[in-house]
Amino acid sequence: MELLDIDQSMEELRESFKSRKTRSIAWRRSQLKGLQGLLEEKEGDIFRALQEDLGKPCAESYRDEVGTVKKSLNLSLACLEEWTSSKKVRLPMVLFPTSGELVAEPLGVVLIITSWNFPLGLALEPLIGAIAAGNAAVVKPSELSPACSSFLATNIPIYLDNKAIKVIQGGVSVSEQLLDKKWDKIFFTGSARVGRIVMSAASKHLTPVILELGGKCPAIYDTLSSYRDTKIAIRRITLGKWGLCSGQACIGIDYLLVEERNASALVNMLKDRIQRNYGNDPRESNSMSRIVNKHHFQRLRNILKDPKVAASIVHGGSMDEDTLFIEPTILMNPPLDSEIMTEEIFGPILPIITLKKIEDSIEFISSRPQPLAIYAFTKNETLKKRIVSETSSGSITFNDCIIQFVVDALPFGGVGQSGFGKYHGKFSFDAFSHEKAVLRRSFITEFSSGSPPWNDFKLGFLRAAYNFDYIALFLMLLGLKRS
Ligand code: NAD
Repeated sequence: MELLDIDQSMEELRESFKSRKTRSIAWRRSQLKGLQGLLEEKEGDIFRALQEDLGKPCAESYRDEVGTVKKSLNLSLACLEEWTSSKKVRLPMVLFPTSGELVAEPLGVVLIITSWNFPLGLALEPLIGAIAAGNAAVVKPSELSPACSSFLATNIPIYLDNKAIKVIQGGVSVSEQLLDKKWDKIFFTGSARVGRIVMSAASKHLTPVILELGGKCPAIYDTLSSYRDTKIAIRRITLGKWGLCSGQACIGIDYLLVEERNASALVNMLKDRIQRNYGNDPRESNSMSRIVNKHHFQRLRNILKDPKVAASIVHGGSMDEDTLFIEPTILMNPPLDSEIMTEEIFGPILPIITLKKIEDSIEFISSRPQPLAIYAFTKNETLKKRIVSETSSGSITFNDCIIQFVVDALPFGGVGQSGFGKYHGKFSFDAFSHEKAVLRRSFITEFSSGSPPWNDFKLGFLRAAYNFDYIALFLMLLGLKRS
C-alpha cells in the first residue's frame, strides 16, 4: 500500500472517530456481531488459509484461533453494557456532598500490529477489545502469513464498517510508514527486537503502547507420585511443546527442567507420547503444523547444527526443507551458552536441563529474563509457593500449560523482556479505554481552610482532613480542642 493510501485511510478513520459513531453501543455491537458472522460463514476459508500459511490442522486452528476468538466475542457481547457503564467510586467523608465515578472512554484511532504464528487470533483478539471500547482501528497482519493476511484484508471490509476498521497489509516498510503516524494506542505482538522499534516510534507522539512479546517459557517437571497424574502431565507437556503450531508459540514450553534422577524416565515417556500423537513417522502425520518459512526452518536447522547441540539430541532431529518439516526433537543438557538456551527457540525442539534438586529450578529461572509464562508440574505446595513468590513472569500455571490463554478472568501479557500491558476478557476492553475520573461537587458546603490567608487553624484543619481524622475535624469546627 502506498503512503498516500495510508494517509487517506488515516483521514477516514479520524473522521469516523470524530463523528462519534464508534462510541455508540449499537455500532460496537454491530461490529462484534459482524465478526461473529465472519467466523461462522468463513470457517472453511480460515482453515484453508491457516493450512496454507502454517500447515495447521483444522482442529488446532479451531482450538487456538476460531474457537478462542468466538469465545471472546460472546463474552464481549454479553458484557458490553456492564463494561461501558460508569462505575461509582467511594469518596472520603470529608468531601461530602460529592460523588465520583469512572467513565470509560475510547482512545481514538488505534493500530494493531501482529505476528504470524496465530495470524487470525492475534489480529482479532485485540480488535475485539478495540471495538468494544469504541475505537476506530487498523490491523496490520504479518507478511509472513500471507494467506491469512489476505483473508483478513478481503473479509474485514465485507463484514465490518470499512470507514472505521481497516486492514492494511504489508511488511516492514508498511509497518514503518504506519508507525510514523500519530496513533492513540499501538498494540504490538511480536519480537522484543521490533518491540523496541515500535516503542521508539510511539515515543515521538507520546502514544501509549502494549507490547506482547515472547521469550523462553520454562516448564518444571517434579516427581508426581501417581501413574495417572504422570501420564496426564506428559500429555500436557507434549501438547505445550509440539501441539501448538509445532512449538512456534509465545506461550509454548521452551525448555524443561527436571531432577537428574527423573530425566531418562521423562525422555522415555515423552518419546512414547510423541509416537502416540504423531505416529511412527511424524512426517506423515497430519496433526503437526509446519515451520512458517525457509528462513525460520534454516534458523532452527543451524541451531541444531552446532556440534555440541547436535551431540545432545536424544530423540528426533530429522527434517525436510521441502515440506518445512522438523521432527519433534528432544535434547539432553545442551550447553547453556549455546543459542538454543539463550534465544527463544520458536520451533519443535525441546531442551531438557537436569538439576540436582528440583528447587534449583527457581534460581535457574530467576537468573534469566522474565518469561511470558512459567509452568510447573508438581504437587509440592511449598515448591509452588516458592515459585510464585521467588520468580517473575507474565503468568504461572501449575500442572498444565497454555490453558491460561483461554481464561478470560486472568490477564494475558508479559513482564520485563516478555512485554507489558495486558488483554483478554475485560482486560482487552480496558487496554483500549481511558478510565476518566469524573468528580461531581455541589455548592452546599464550602470550607475556606484550603485557601489563604493561612493560619494555624487552617493548618490543623488540613492535617485532620488529609488524615481522615473526623473527630478532630468535628471538634475544630465546634471550636474545641481534643484533650
Ligand atoms: P516480528 O517482531 O518479526 O514481527 C511482528 C510484526 O512486526 C509483523 O507484523 C512485522 O511486519 C512487523 N515488523 C517486523 N519488522 C519490523 C520493523 N523493522 N519495523 C516495524 N515493523 C516491523 O515477530 P514475528 O516473527 O512475527 O513473531 C515472533 C515473535 O512474536 C516471537 O518472539 C514470539 O514470542 C512473539 N509473539 C508473542 C505473542 C504474545 O502474545 N506475547 C504472540 C505471538 C508471538
